[in-house]
Amino acid sequence: AKAAGRNAVRFFEPEMQARAEMRFTLEAELRQAIDNNELRLYVQPQFDGQQRMRGAEVLLRWHHPRRGLIWPGSFVPIAEETGLIVELGDWVLRRACGMLTRPELAEGTLRISVNVSPRQFHHAGFVARVRDILAETGADPARLTFEVTEGLVIDKVHQTVATMSELNALGIHFSVDDFGTGYSSLAYLKRLPIQELKIDRSFIQDAPSDPNDAALVDTILSIAAHLHLDVVAEGVETEAQAAFLATRAPMLYQGYLYARPEPEESFLARLRDASRR
Ligand code: C2E
Ligand code: CA
Ligand code: CA
Ligand code: CA
Repeated sequence: AKAAGRNAVRFFEPEMQARAEMRFTLEAELRQAIDNNELRLYVQPQFDGQQRMRGAEVLLRWHHPRRGLIWPGSFVPIAEETGLIVELGDWVLRRACGMLTRPELAEGTLRISVNVSPRQFHHAGFVARVRDILAETGADPARLTFEVTEGLVIDKVHQTVATMSELNALGIHFSVDDFGTGYSSLAYLKRLPIQELKIDRSFIQDAPSDPNDAALVDTILSIAAHLHLDVVAEGVETEAQAAFLATRAPMLYQGYLYARPEPEESFLARLRDASRR
């Protein structure tokens, strides 16, 4: 057993080292990505039950000159751990606010949702930087939603409530992303000044066929109704899922069934087309 253990160590060592080196390289390259103009905003619309577009979530992509398109799952966690997420998050918010002031969006009522990571949210001066970005871009804060995860609250209820309230006062909404996958208690939820829950894709996936998932979705909808929160179903991929949800309660739908995330410019072009029809 001892020998096997040693072999196992030898076997995994090079792979672990390669991964650590890759991570180190990506971190260094990520530091340059903003200056080198390699980051892109992708946008995925959200629709109501009548197929009307009501909002959109912005999602970060990294167009790496050599590695090609990199998805956030491969670099957002690195950014979060190294603290780069603060700069990255500012960049995303500035771009999202800039987009809101474009003629295709400025006149309408679509809400734009931006993912805000825990580290970014709790970083000193977050509220001040949000104010600066709003002033710089002229975006209407009442059209913005910040998506946060349940992990935000751990050990920091008071601070979280205070920061959220300050941003609420500007008109910004808060949405709890991936709701149900974290460990926030209902007691926390009640204290948070939030306006929306996003049902995690994992619950949506099997809800039409799995009674347990169906029950979970119903529980989330019931919590939302009691707390007067809006609901977004994320990751809706099939007609069966949409049909299941439609029998439950009014909500917004987001997922590949309706639209994939697309580059900012093609999203704006879609809005121009729609307004000409
Ligand atoms: P998320 O906030 O839960 O975003 C939803 C993810 O689901 C996105 O993945 C989206 O492309 C994907 N998605 C949308 N519809 C469907 C569907 O019907 N089926 C499936 N299978 N997937 C769908 P993406 O763009 O790869 O982003 C992954 C995660 O990276 C996000 O999860 C979010 O946690 C993080 N992220 C993305 N952009 C940002 C950002 O600007 N800031 C921060 N802090 N995190 C971000
Ligand atoms: Ca999100
Ligand atoms: Ca989500
Ligand atoms: Ca999710």
